[in-house]
Amino acid sequence: MSNGILTEMTIEDVRAFDPEVVAIGVGSVEPHGPVLPYGTDYWQADASVRRGVILANESGARALMYPTLPIGNNANFKAFPFACRIRVQTLMQMLLDIINALAEDGIRKIVLFDGHGGNTDTLRATLRANVDAHRPGQGPFVCITSYPPAPASLVEDSSDHGGESEVSRMLYLREDLVRKDKFDNFPWGKKPAVEALTDEGVYFVKPWHLHVPASAGGDVRKASAEKGKGLIENAAEHLARLLTQLSKTPWSETFPY
Ligand SMILES: [Zn+2]
Repeated sequence: MSNGILTEMTIEDVRAFDPEVVAIGVGSVEPHGPVLPYGTDYWQADASVRRGVILANESGARALMYPTLPIGNNANFKAFPFACRIRVQTLMQMLLDIINALAEDGIRKIVLFDGHGGNTDTLRATLRANVDAHRPGQGPFVCITSYPPAPASLVEDSSDHGGESEVSRMLYLREDLVRKDKFDNFPWGKKPAVEALTDEGVYFVKPWHLHVPASAGGDVRKASAEKGKGLIENAAEHLARLLTQLSKTPWSETFPY
């Protein structure tokens, strides 16, 4: 019996499994301060999708985990070394190619798991481009999910990047890669001189070497593997609920309505 993890299945497993919905983790490899490894967003997304797919299949879904994508958009990280990055257009085209290939394999339902804030706008634009490429009801249905809001009991000091939640998840997933001797309260950068840029609803791409000078921000000293386990399980249950409902709802030209 297969667990739905494509990279671990044989061709006979895949044919017998006959997946109904596919989940794709979209990660990133970029600096995460002195405590965490560059691969943090990759490891977290990969583990969340893996666990979510297994839980969904235990609930009667036929969900397949696609290989997690390791590289995304990081133009705002350029001032740090080796922030792995491809262009917005490249990530979008890669995702559209994967979506089209899955459609050729008969998949009509696809979930992107967004594991990196720098990719979010591109993932959304990809969904628009996918809808634009097909007559209504003809193309595959694609949606995006991510980590749900964390319960207050699991994150005391929330952070955009490299903070308590990411350190906790990595302590749970890959404690061997976490530098506990470097735990600290990492400072945020200065506010922009144009104060109105911080008003509600105003958007710009922050240069992260100015926004988060250590390449991680926030107090990570209360991070723990136990909190990390809770955060990963929380994300996996959230994803599993979505995958299970998508899997069990029959396809029609008006899907998901
Ligand atoms: Zn991260």
